[in-house]
Formats: sequence, structure tokens, C-alpha cells
Amino acid sequence: MGHDNNIETFHIATYGCQMNLADSSVLAAGLISRGYKRVFDEREANLLVFNTCSVREKAEERVFGRLGEVYKFKRQRPHLKIAVVGCMAQRLGEKIIDAVPHVDYVLGTDRLFELPEILEGIEGGRPVMTAFGHEDMDSITPVKETPFSAFVTISRGCDNYCTYCIVPYVRGRERAHSPSMIVESIKRLVDEGVVEVMLLGQNVNSYSYDGVDFPDLLQAVLTETGMPRIRFMTSHPKDLSHKLVDVMAADSRLMPHIHLPLQSGSNRILQRMGRGYTIEHYLEIVDYIRARLDYVSLTTDLIVGFPSESETEYEATLEAVRRVEYDAAFMFRYSVRAGTKAAGYDDDVPDDEKIRRLNNLIAVQKEIGYRRNQREVGQLRQSLIEGRSRRSRELDRARTEGNKTVLFSANGMAAGAVAAIRITQADAFTLHGEIAEDGQ
Ligand code: SAM
Ligand code: SF4
Repeated sequence: MGHDNNIETFHIATYGCQMNLADSSVLAAGLISRGYKRVFDEREANLLVFNTCSVREKAEERVFGRLGEVYKFKRQRPHLKIAVVGCMAQRLGEKIIDAVPHVDYVLGTDRLFELPEILEGIEGGRPVMTAFGHEDMDSITPVKETPFSAFVTISRGCDNYCTYCIVPYVRGRERAHSPSMIVESIKRLVDEGVVEVMLLGQNVNSYSYDGVDFPDLLQAVLTETGMPRIRFMTSHPKDLSHKLVDVMAADSRLMPHIHLPLQSGSNRILQRMGRGYTIEHYLEIVDYIRARLDYVSLTTDLIVGFPSESETEYEATLEAVRRVEYDAAFMFRYSVRAGTKAAGYDDDVPDDEKIRRLNNLIAVQKEIGYRRNQREVGQLRQSLIEGRSRRSRELDRARTEGNKTVLFSANGMAAGAVAAIRITQADAFTLHGEIAEDGQ
């Protein structure tokens, strides 16, 4: 091992989106290949990595809270190294070390993969590295979530500059991986026994590489690889084409789930958010999706309390949620992000009002989610067995085509297999089912 022997074990805490989970796995693989051992208990680690999220203030506060707490480990074990990487590191740089002096390394979104080399090369010191343009777009490291499912990043960064959002600032401009590289990495995954892949990008629908758009890319993956189950996220409503829906309709290997963030049901707010579509356009896409696909699960992201959002505009969001009937939604109250365009707007919806709107929205969506899940009861879903249920020791867990968790008894069928599961029961968030004896 060419590294400081004090650092043999590492722990990564990941905050935020799938992109961060993917980055953490790549980083973990890099560390493991250099002889470090991953541990899942912070107290056993000699290197603590925090892969962070900047999307909302609360996400950053949580990390600062955790950084405060781990100070006690550092006092007990002075050789312990602490690295803050990812979006917060990118956004705050030096300021993290100013605020939390026991942090050793701060590495931005393009630099975090250099951590293993940095550990080998630098004794002491406190490197802060946040310059862009250091990533390697000529290779893709697919990230295995499990031995049978993986994430493949098709593009990094984002060009949309929604006015509330920090992502383009912390992850840079959109850069696409080439279709041939994506296809090759998926072929390799098939050879390794992976049966489900999730293609990742902040806006997969704006994917473009030498004239190849996203539906073309999916078509290439379908024709050139044998990957049995293919998912993707996130879809931006302004760029989702009928062509994409048609490709999905033609091949059952494309899983019928679309994550289509609406954000707001009010046209004035959508415009102020810089989203680039109207509610009418959004609903037209939803109608087309539902008309073309026999079965589809739709999920979304929503923000309440955006600057100047009136009660009537908030109600337009509720109305849209009722009209679309989402299977699930991630719901947030607006959080000011310094440096974004909306940070220049008056954040005039009071916190308690934001909380009221959010709680009410959550209650409305919960009831809709419950109703949508009731409609699954009696249906047969080809589901990928993922392992033991996290909540119940007796039950196993699988993922349906629509990306829902179903709890059932695998009766000896192994994780990684696809089982025909009959849904028998459902609550607002989880399905229950049993293996269909005849698979019919
Ligand atoms: N690119 C994806 C998209 O456009 O949906 C994901 C972006 S972000 C990581 C995930 C969600 O966080 C957004 O869809 C939005 O609902 C929410 N979000 C982003 N910035 C926010 C802010 N300043 N305040 C509250 N929610 C925010
Ligand atoms: Fe942020 Fe908008 Fe880009 Fe999504 S599309 S990452 S919300 S700027």
C-alpha cells in the first residue's frame, strides 16, 4: 500500500441525489483499489468522507451539524482525516475550513475523484480544490448499486439555470458522454450479470452528442445491448419529446416510470422559475404519455413558497397534482440559494406559511399516492428482487416496473432475479404482494 498506514479504513456519508450516490461509489472504488477498506461504522474509520448536497439550505445545515459531531472522534484519534467533497465543497470552498477547522480536505464536484492521490501525496496540509475541467469525460465508471443493478451517468452538469437552483453553479455546464461509450459500458454490465440499469443526468432529455438525441441513445442501448431493464432520470418537461414516449411504448425493456418534475402549477411562477414550459404543455405531455403507455408510473418534484407565490398560485399546484395523480412526489419548500437568480427576488412567503403549504400538499399527495397504489392491487408486476426488506425481517423486497417497492416472500428466489409478483395489498408508499405461481 502506497499510502499513509494510519488511513486504512474509510467511511462515506452521502447526501442528496443519485448523482452523489454514483460519485460516492466511484470514489469508494478508487479508494478500495488502492488498498483502503470501506467500513459502515464511522467509529471504525480513519477517513471520513462527506459527499454533500447544496440544493437546499437544510441539506447544508445537516452536514455542518455532522461535522461538529465528528470533532469528538478527531480528538480521540488525531490521525483521523475528514474530507468534505461534492456540491457544498464546490460552493463554499475555503469557507468550510474557516467554519470547521478540523476538516482536512475540501474537494469540489470535479475534484473529489482525486482524493486517493491526494491522500498518498500530501502529508498534513489542507488542500481545497474546486476548479472545474478536471474530470475525465472519456471514460464512464458505471456504479453498481448491487451486483445486479447499476447507475450509468450519461451526462454531467446542467445548462438550464432554473432561477432557484444551485446545480449549474456547483456541477458546471452540461457535458454528455458519447453513445458508443455508454453502450459499451452497458454491454460490460450485462456480461457481469447486471439486469437493471439507471441512466442518469440532471436533464436526460436534453442529451445530445453528434446528432444523437436521448430517444436515439435509448434505441441504441436497446438494439446493441441485452440489458433487460432500463430506467432513466431526470426528465425535464420542456425537453421530453413524443419521440421518447414512442420509443418507450415500443419496448417493454424500458421501464414504465417517468420522473417529471413539475415544480409549480402556476404559469406565472413557472416562468419566474425559468422552467421553460407552461402547465398546459406539461399536461399535454402527461396526456400523451398516458395515452401511449398502457401502464406508467409518474413521479415529480414540487416547490411551494417560491418568492411571490400567492395562495391562488399555490392552489394551482394542488390542482395540477390532483389532475395528474402522481404515484409519488418529492415536495420541498423554497430555500434561498446564494448566487442564483431567485436569490435576488424578495423571499416574501413567511416560513410558517411555506410550512403550512408544504404540509397541506404532502397530505393531498399522500391520499393520491394511496389511491394510485390501490389500483396496483390485483396486478401482476415483473419485479426485480433486491434483498431483505429493511423494515421486516420476514419479508423480501423487490422493485416493480413502475419503480415501486413491493414487499413479499421470495420463497428461496435469489436477489437479482426478476419475479412475477401479484400485488395483494397497498398503502400510500409501499405495495405488498406474492409470487404468482403460474407467472400469469
Ligand atoms: N435536475 C433535476 C430536475 O430538474 O428536477 C433535479 C434537480 S434538484 C437536485 C432536485 C429538486 O430539488 C428540484 O427538482 C427541485 O424541486 C428541488 N430544488 C432545487 N432547488 C431548490 C431550492 N432552492 N429550494 C427548494 N427546492 C429546490
Ligand atoms: Fe436545477 Fe433546473 Fe438543472 Fe434541474 S434542470 S438541475 S432544477 S437548474
